[in-house]
Amino acid sequence: MRTKSTQTNKINVITLGCSKNIYDSEVLMGQLKASGKEVVHEEEGNIVVINTCGFIDNAKEESVNTILENIQRKEAGEIDKVYVTGCLSERYKPDLEKEIPQVDQYFGTTELPQLLKTLEADYKHELLGERVTTTPKNYAYFKISEGCDRPCSFCAIPLMRGKHRSTPIEDLVKQAKSLAKNGVKELILIAQDLTYYGLDLYKKRNLAELLEALAQIEGIEWIRLHYAFPTGFPMDVFDVMTREPKICNYLDIPLQHISDRILKSMRRGTTQEKTTQLLNDFRAAVPGISLRTSLIVGYPGETLEDFECLKNWVKEMRFERLGCFTYSHEENTHAHTLEDDVPEEEKQRRASEIMELQAQISWELNQEKVGKIFRCIIDRKEGNHFVGRTEMDSPDVDNEVLVDATKYYLKQGEFVDLKIIEAADFDLYAIPSA
Ligand code: SF4
Repeated sequence: MRTKSTQTNKINVITLGCSKNIYDSEVLMGQLKASGKEVVHEEEGNIVVINTCGFIDNAKEESVNTILENIQRKEAGEIDKVYVTGCLSERYKPDLEKEIPQVDQYFGTTELPQLLKTLEADYKHELLGERVTTTPKNYAYFKISEGCDRPCSFCAIPLMRGKHRSTPIEDLVKQAKSLAKNGVKELILIAQDLTYYGLDLYKKRNLAELLEALAQIEGIEWIRLHYAFPTGFPMDVFDVMTREPKICNYLDIPLQHISDRILKSMRRGTTQEKTTQLLNDFRAAVPGISLRTSLIVGYPGETLEDFECLKNWVKEMRFERLGCFTYSHEENTHAHTLEDDVPEEEKQRRASEIMELQAQISWELNQEKVGKIFRCIIDRKEGNHFVGRTEMDSPDVDNEVLVDATKYYLKQGEFVDLKIIEAADFDLYAIPSA
């Protein structure tokens, strides 16, 4: 790999998209480091590797723009090489090779060994999840499986990530121990479908057993669950959650919609009645559990009646945390055969209406926390505040706890008991409890 500049090569990895891409970039960086390569994350480097996202329109646009920006820098002689990997590359490689041929090489989501070879590094299997984390040192995303077997009509992920493959428990325990040794206290479990874990390897849903094993690891204090799926939910997870204080009373379960007509068209395999019952069972099993969900509005054929049904349900269920996205018409998905008949403006209007409703619900729920003390982890200092989270909040997507740094000093990466003194719709303000 000849580069123009005489400087020693420095590889700059740029990550776009979701926490699973962050994980993949960290694994790539761990492998490069183990091969003695100088590697940085989103800093200056003469060799750029862009880990792209290909999920929905906005994300694809951001990925293409990032590629074009770096091609311009290469043509201006600022950098020497541009390599592209990740979901967009997996999904559109032939088109990208034709439309942006200035990229030195494109790699798919399962081509880490080939990418490493091109960067004159070896793929070391024994490294197994050893990685260079890019998140604040106290937490790490922890991918327990890859791919997805579900048929959700709107989703392109199976096209980019393939079929579901669980990582063996013993490998995950080894990874987690190495993270704990490097100071990680919080594992954020991620997958395309967390609750499918083990069905391929152990012929049974084995998430509970994995949680038991991870909870034994010294140094790990919080274990958080993201991306659960509503059907076939392994309820034994709640036995572990109630027994093991390390398992956060938190569950992220994207539900996407609630109108039976839309759920059927989305091929979600559930109904309003079953979903409502499931959430009530969750709340009965773990009182005070923090439930996060994601919804899609503007799906093909979504009528005002369907939307009203969704809105009323959000009012009734009062999720602790909720995100809402507008439908993106993705080619080669089943929903792409339907007419994308809800105008973009109307999609946006519906999404804002849901988020306004959620802001009110979140404000009301937050008022109940004023005067109470919560064990929090401090992630960073930002301006005049230390920024932390309670057990009910995941990084980047949920609420934060702010402490006045002009009056108090807190250690980043440390747990501390904080007393909530004021609450906004999403953020909380606190002081150290005496
Ligand atoms: S479970 Fe999630 S990743 Fe899998 S197809 Fe459905 S939406 Fe996509």
